Amino acid sequence: ESGLALVNDGTLTVCSNIPFEPFEYVVDGEFTGFDVELTREIATGMGLEHEMQNVGFDGLQSGTVLAARQCDMIAAAMTVTDERAEKLAFSDPYYDSLQSILAPAGSSIASLADLDGKKIGVQQGTTGESYARDNAPEGAEIMSFQTDAELFQSLQAGGIDAVLQDLPVNQDHTEDGKYAVTATFETGEVYAFAMKKDSSTELAAKVNEQLASLRENGKYQELYDKYFTE
Ligand code: GLN
Repeated sequence: ESGLALVNDGTLTVCSNIPFEPFEYVVDGEFTGFDVELTREIATGMGLEHEMQNVGFDGLQSGTVLAARQCDMIAAAMTVTDERAEKLAFSDPYYDSLQSILAPAGSSIASLADLDGKKIGVQQGTTGESYARDNAPEGAEIMSFQTDAELFQSLQAGGIDAVLQDLPVNQDHTEDGKYAVTATFETGEVYAFAMKKDSSTELAAKVNEQLASLRENGKYQELYDKYFTE
């Protein structure tokens, strides 16, 4: 696979931002999640080992980690945007997503308008942050956090009234019944894997080939059901 000019020969090195459950998180010291398993399948299909690294989301979306050759590809539930596509080469989309509000169960916050005079938490550099800045009422205070973990901790501690974040991730925080998704916003966003823009044409083609075959052989659906069906 030398034509791919991988960071580490024989290995697909993948950068992500953890935790973003159910896409990427750690269990017993091991990375797991939909993105983790899907990119492992892609690597295996290409005859490569698979390695994951945890990096801040800003370093991912700016393409810094790719330019510095820390990894070959980004798998971070990353939404394709025009701005990011100027710096990154995206694979074919692999997940359709939308935005949502997470609030304490029984809270009266059921729309962005209800956040007037309230504090809304977002993850820095994400499409959720942009959505909040573009659509929240002027009286809402938008607070940015580095990771989804810090965002959720602040909600639990009462530091913010609600979270604006990708639906599948907010959904994941509702399992104990203390928090609920109280609104969803059809942004039409899709996730894709990101690679270096200039030199990764061959890598992107191989990744897309593997993605297509995982959709065909049912493995994609198997992983989808494992992480998103409840
Ligand atoms: N999908 C969102 C975005 O791309 C959030 C991704 C993330 O925080 N890992 O901005």
